[in-house]
Amino acid sequence: MANAKDNPFAVLFEPMAIGPVTARNRFFQVPHCTGLGHANPQAEVALRATKAEGGWGVVCTQEVEIHPSSDISPYPEGRLWDDADIPAHRAMTDAVHEHNSLAGIELVHNGQHAANLATRIPPIAPTHRPVDLYHPLQARAMDKHDIKQFRQWHVNAAKRSRQAGYDIVYVYAGHNMAMLMHFLLPRYNDRSDEYGGNVVNRARLLKETLSDVRDAVGGDCGVALRLAVDELMGDGGLQANDEGSEIVSLLADIPDLWDVNISGWDNDSATARFEPDEGYQEQYTAFVKKLVSKPVVGVGRFTSPTAMVSQINRGVLDFIGAARPSIADPFLPNKILAGELESIRECIGCNICVSSDNVIAPIRCTQNPTMGEEWRRGWHPEVSPKSEKPEQVLIVGAGPSGLECALQLLRRGHNVLLAEAELDVGGRLLHESQLPGLASYRRVRDYRQQQLSVLQEVDVLLDNRLSANDVLETEIEHVIIATGAHWRHDGLGRQHPQGIRINDSAMPVFTADDIYAGKKLPENVLVYDDDHYYLAGVLAESLHQSGHTVTLVTPANCISAWTDHTLEQHKIQARLLNLGVNIVTAHELHLIGEKTVTHACVYSQKLTQVESDGVVMVTSRTPDDSLFAELQNTHSSGETHFKTLQRIGDCLAPSTVAAAVYSGHLAARELGADDTKKLLFKRESVQFMM
Ligand code: ADP
Ligand code: SF4
Repeated sequence: MANAKDNPFAVLFEPMAIGPVTARNRFFQVPHCTGLGHANPQAEVALRATKAEGGWGVVCTQEVEIHPSSDISPYPEGRLWDDADIPAHRAMTDAVHEHNSLAGIELVHNGQHAANLATRIPPIAPTHRPVDLYHPLQARAMDKHDIKQFRQWHVNAAKRSRQAGYDIVYVYAGHNMAMLMHFLLPRYNDRSDEYGGNVVNRARLLKETLSDVRDAVGGDCGVALRLAVDELMGDGGLQANDEGSEIVSLLADIPDLWDVNISGWDNDSATARFEPDEGYQEQYTAFVKKLVSKPVVGVGRFTSPTAMVSQINRGVLDFIGAARPSIADPFLPNKILAGELESIRECIGCNICVSSDNVIAPIRCTQNPTMGEEWRRGWHPEVSPKSEKPEQVLIVGAGPSGLECALQLLRRGHNVLLAEAELDVGGRLLHESQLPGLASYRRVRDYRQQQLSVLQEVDVLLDNRLSANDVLETEIEHVIIATGAHWRHDGLGRQHPQGIRINDSAMPVFTADDIYAGKKLPENVLVYDDDHYYLAGVLAESLHQSGHTVTLVTPANCISAWTDHTLEQHKIQARLLNLGVNIVTAHELHLIGEKTVTHACVYSQKLTQVESDGVVMVTSRTPDDSLFAELQNTHSSGETHFKTLQRIGDCLAPSTVAAAVYSGHLAARELGADDTKKLLFKRESVQFMM
């Protein structure tokens, strides 16, 4: 391990006190959800342990429910309802301590944000309010007895946290997801007692809870406060330059650490499409740092040590907080320490990780295919076990799946020939990263291209579109086809499983691939989105920017509907509306004619005709698998020398970039594996009580 003192970024490796405990450096993995939590405790432990191994001086849990009246089911966050939950947490702290890091726990009562679907306890809140989302439930106003109990639950959970071995205990009032934040906000708190009214009263419960937790565990544990200081809603919400600063001043000396939050989650975990710059939360972190004497942790998708050092030297913060950068690269601190900056897998700000939590699935990451797989598959982000028998492998196609596959095969000790039809590697990323707000997506290609460039055992053949004969002539025994997919012109998709009616003399229909190829589009275009992820919205934005009149039609009730899971949907819709893109929701394309497009309401089937000169179809993709099919035919007739022939990524099944990278990674890990063992992973099992 390199010596921290000689490191040009030495300040990042200084030990820092947090109350009675000391972190070995300034790298702080702030609490973040994983979609694992209490449902997958062993996977959760292994994930956090990997971060500690990678050099994060502090590694925290996700939010941890302190009581059954804060039951965020079906989302599997952390849980510390009673003593039975302690062992899973003890396993986490032991694993983190093994690497000399500190373990932090974020205690939460979600208040009206929790519908208590599993426990069926009527939710509680500062005052009578409907619960979040559209559950037909209301939270009841807390009386004085409830408030007393609420404080006691925090004390109990804090004591259990200490028993479980945590070094830092969080009190959480952020993201508009926590009761302690709801008390602060006049729109949720219209109480007439000493917990409502002026800001001192509304902050009373937070102050009391912080003091309670300090009294309970403050001698042994650092007490952290994660506080939303601004909601980016102007007058409609909490503002840093108004009550935000009053609240910070009121509490300034109570916690040992300030974790600065901007609310809601979509603002805190903003995607690169909407917050392209590293350190985008600086003004909020800096403002808290000015008001308090205790250390401050702030986030902002930090991946560059220069930006981190600058924030510390300029007095913006004391700890480099990270959720997503620690997901994309759990070894980021160690790489900075070792001076291996080029090997950092930089977060691209896509929020696929966030989407996993929102769809109640184990976490995944576009850049880091091992994320969430540390326990169930035993995958390490930096080490792929060496193969006992090095083989030669031909990979056809250097998009995200082919690149990742090549890299991992090389790490396993195989020899790789990577053939690419284009003049550069990157596949779809080369094109998509040119679209508005998606420049960072190129990092997926850049990281892999850079890592491949330093390895000897790879030959990359650019500008080489291989035919089946070319493949056979190489006589390589392991062949992996990663030739990608293309967008369909015929409109086949979810809404039209057999395609859309297009007249013989119809206006031209384009796809994203035509646009990437430089085809000229007419002035007035209609973009049809039956894909529901980012592409149709971003193409509409791009076409508008280049002077086209754009109408975006979708059968969904909003545009880019799936991006709700990446916390972007409302921002995308607002941006396109503000630009002047004409948006038509809940309509499917009925007929494409010569000068008009007819669309139909998906509910009433009422038809509307609009003039257009061309359609951009974003519905579904067809795998480019003809090369695979030809080789497979030859292979099954026994005429080839192949030991294995397989397809990966979009050529196997078109999907997200994250899925393509994962597919390439999996194929590399499994090359040469016994077929019966493939696709198996460990599962957390429920113990039956007899
Ligand atoms: P994925 O997301 O699965 O990696 P992409 O579409 O991003 O898929 O990348 C596929 C890559 O395969 C593209 O760069 C394309 O140029 C390349 N390709 C397609 N057919 C061939 C071929 N016959 N020979 C070499 N490269 C090919
Ligand atoms: Fe970053 Fe995307 Fe990975 Fe999340 S999924 S950590 S946003 S690269």
